Amino acid sequence: MAEPAETRFNCPNCSAQYKVVKVEAPALANVEEVNCLNCGAALQARDGKFLLKYFLIGPKTKRDRRKR
Ligand SMILES: [Zn+2]
Repeated sequence: MAEPAETRFNCPNCSAQYKVVKVEAPALANVEEVNCLNCGAALQARDGKFLLKYFLIGPKTKRDRRKR
């Protein structure tokens, strides 16, 4: 079984870390809105014929990088 296509994604709004998995979707499938679980920002839900599934893997990372 081939490894699923997996990419990392950071919410452009809150920088929450996601693992993104592409799943092939029927052409007529309804595309649900996807929102960031952390901040609610709209995320890309579809890439061509693939649906994008987001899995939150990191707690929200503060904008400052580990200072204070
Ligand atoms: Zn977010």
